[in-house]
Amino acid sequence: MTDKPNIKKPSHAPMSGFPVDGNILTIGGRSLLDVADEVGRTPFFAYDSSLIKSRVGELRAAFPGDIHLHYAIKANPLQGVVDLLAGEVDGLDVASSGELNIALQSGASPNSISFAGPGKTDKELAAAIRAGITINLESGNELDRIAELGARTVGTPKVAVRVNPDFELKASGMKMGGGPKPFGVDAELVPELLGRMAGMAVEFMGFHIFCGSQNLSEAAIYEAQQKTFALAIRLSAEAPRPPRLLNIGGGLGIPYFPGETRLDLGKIGAGLESLLPDARKAMPDAEFVMELGRFLVGEAGIYVSRVIDKKISRGRTYLITDGGLHHQLAASGNFGQVLRKNYPVAIGNRMTSDEMEEVDIVGCLCTPLDRLGDRMLLPRAEVGDLVVLFQSGAYGRSASPERFLGHPSAVEILL
Ligand SMILES: *Cc1c(COP(=O)(O)O)cnc(C)c1O
Repeated sequence: MTDKPNIKKPSHAPMSGFPVDGNILTIGGRSLLDVADEVGRTPFFAYDSSLIKSRVGELRAAFPGDIHLHYAIKANPLQGVVDLLAGEVDGLDVASSGELNIALQSGASPNSISFAGPGKTDKELAAAIRAGITINLESGNELDRIAELGARTVGTPKVAVRVNPDFELKASGMKMGGGPKPFGVDAELVPELLGRMAGMAVEFMGFHIFCGSQNLSEAAIYEAQQKTFALAIRLSAEAPRPPRLLNIGGGLGIPYFPGETRLDLGKIGAGLESLLPDARKAMPDAEFVMELGRFLVGEAGIYVSRVIDKKISRGRTYLITDGGLHHQLAASGNFGQVLRKNYPVAIGNRMTSDEMEEVDIVGCLCTPLDRLGDRMLLPRAEVGDLVVLFQSGAYGRSASPERFLGHPSAVEILL
């Protein structure tokens, strides 16, 4: 028998947006217990509007003034969150007619809304044309359908070409560009498409180049942005008129797992500052847009469930909660992850304790996939305690199979 080497395990980034008061977590300046009382049942998601606003402020402070910020609402389509962000950012990006309705409901100007996504139906395209928003083209066929619908609808369709770039965003959690992709028009096919567009009754707006999501490397983001601007400059020479819009995507990640750290926005801002002069010269009429989802809302939300049972099975201690992957699929490791890792977790009504315990936290679904925390060292919890999963403001409820197994849906509250 040898002793285990004493290697210090990397820990989660501190969840600094949620101060602790009297050993109880607070959110939006309120005790978690108060919030749980107000909601009236578990599980629930709570989002802190001041954290969302301060995120926008940090981006504005770090980025050049002519970078427009858009919110990609698929990260969190709760009407209250979208309404809040519509007043804070410069535009909204939607990916379905359902999201378009939410965006229009928020009062955002149609001029500042764009619609991307493969497989837009005629009904969705017609709604987009009627609303006067910008459609990000995903294929040559889609262009033909838009032109045809435009001829039968009031208003000239506004289109930007979503380009599937000829490069990848390195070190990205989810790649959306480079190689064969269902998204966008392959960069090498764009000049021909632009030529065809010149003879059609559509209004060319510019380009949309999005290559990936959840990136925590400033260097990889800089490299992708450099290539994005270079590609856009190259393509704009072929455009039917000077682009008025260049959406350079987003991709900014947040730290979920042990050892991950927050992005340094100053570095990303400095990178943009160095790239913009050439882009401004080549595209003097263009508005430069960064579209962000997760980065704006991910860290502002928590998912709270209650311990329903506690039991020991062959030496491992299980906290069984009334939550689960039907509300928070990503935290269970089943939303695009290769290896399951723990989200940051706390016992919200018992933030610290002299008595710590290694526990497995699971949900209430009858499937072994329903894991919320594996072998986590936490204050010794009891039945009735509140389990808090951090980093739950993006891709939570709306990205989870809520109907699976017929448990109640999660409540959402914006504080
Ligand atoms: C999903 C998506 C986003 C948002 O990605 P995040 O990683 O949440 O910032 C932005 N643009 C497009 C086109 C998307 O599909």
